[in-house]
Amino acid sequence: MQYEVGSMIKNHCMNCYHDEQKIIEMVPNEFSEKVVKMLWMQCTKCGNTQSRLAQFDD
Ligand SMILES: [Zn+2]
Repeated sequence: MQYEVGSMIKNHCMNCYHDEQKIIEMVPNEFSEKVVKMLWMQCTKCGNTQSRLAQFDD
């Protein structure tokens, strides 16, 4: 799956349970050998922001 800032992804909002969020920021994470980034997402319904880790294959 391709992640980039501005794209919409399926993810449950912890606030309103809407399942579509927009990626607003991606931050590289250093603790893993694999390429892991922290995705910051904003709910398209209520505007709540939350983060989650995503793994990249390349
Ligand atoms: Zn929401």
